[in-house]
Amino acid sequence: MRMSLRAFSVDGSIGEGGGQVLRVAVALAAVLGCQLRVFNIRARRNPPGLRAQHLTAVKAVASLAKGRVEGLKVGSTQISFEPGELSGGKMEFDAGTAGSTTLILQSLMPVMAFAGSPVDVVLRGGTNNPMAPPYEYLENVLLPVLRGMGFDATLKLHRRGFYPRGQGVISAHSKPVDVLKPVRLVGKARVVKITGLSYSCRLPEHITQRMARSAEQFLKKNGYDDVSIAVEALAPENPRCSPDPGTGIILFAHTDLGTLLAVDKLGERGVPAERVGEEAARSLIEELQAKAPVDSHLGDQLVIWAALAEGESEYEVSRITSHTLTSVEVCRQLTGAVFEVDGKLGERGRVRCRGIGLKRG
Ligand code: ATP
Repeated sequence: MRMSLRAFSVDGSIGEGGGQVLRVAVALAAVLGCQLRVFNIRARRNPPGLRAQHLTAVKAVASLAKGRVEGLKVGSTQISFEPGELSGGKMEFDAGTAGSTTLILQSLMPVMAFAGSPVDVVLRGGTNNPMAPPYEYLENVLLPVLRGMGFDATLKLHRRGFYPRGQGVISAHSKPVDVLKPVRLVGKARVVKITGLSYSCRLPEHITQRMARSAEQFLKKNGYDDVSIAVEALAPENPRCSPDPGTGIILFAHTDLGTLLAVDKLGERGVPAERVGEEAARSLIEELQAKAPVDSHLGDQLVIWAALAEGESEYEVSRITSHTLTSVEVCRQLTGAVFEVDGKLGERGRVRCRGIGLKRG
């Protein structure tokens, strides 16, 4: 049995003051073997406190860490967590309704990396949610970078889940790592091609085609010649089709530095498909203005990994976000990793981190 030597108290209202503070803190407490209290959970969100997605993330981490949690109910603004020994094996969690499965993985994956044995996890909930990474983002943008750091994991989308009922299914399989390598993604990135996926469930196929075409035309008009966007319109009889209708588009810019930057946009009732496609293309062009190798979302998602890795990580982001600064603050408090962030909020920047080189076991 691991001894909990340290105890941390984290104020959930710091920085962004959203669910990320909790997810990052709980994941770190699990891998570091620390007692944790988080108060003021999601103080800057309305309504504050835990929602189903956050609750499931904590439950999933606690289960893998054989830990004890108090305060785990929807609306709760305080939890305490005491992790035990990191385990492994097969597990299954349900985010309830359309809670984001990818945000649960954001918390769970660092724990999977340092687990006692391989992990096979099935998650049910939303797979393409607003304000969360779409499944395709995790698979194509985040995971390749984590694999480069030594985290051996694969993801699979079994069924899409959209608001309101969710019921999407994804699975993740991972093997633990002894120590993570640092990440280095720096330099002036030039776009070599743009790919994408325009997807829908239970909607006429022309919607995905129109979204893809308008995104492609807008990108070409703006000087990006090599663009190919796949379309996928799932009918109800397809086992991968979600119970509720939904649609969206994700675009990936492949750079000469070997990195991917992505943006996505979900379709909305009453909003023409052409507008969704064009807005996604316009956001991608904005994201690419800075010629950075890392997009603004990956910028915050890599922070916890850099803190745990051995040695100096460094990456340049298209935009320093408050999510990035918040995650840096939480990781600094709990791990003692040394961070240096250059650049102003909202502008191109650089994150440097001397990680703690956490060893498994
Ligand atoms: P809330 O407190 O409102 O519930 P939350 O739990 O949804 O917040 P946040 O604290 O806002 O979580 O963090 C959202 C996370 O999702 C961040 O890591 C952010 O980078 C990521 N994210 C949001 N939108 C996208 C997107 N379109 N593509 C990739 N990642 C995204």
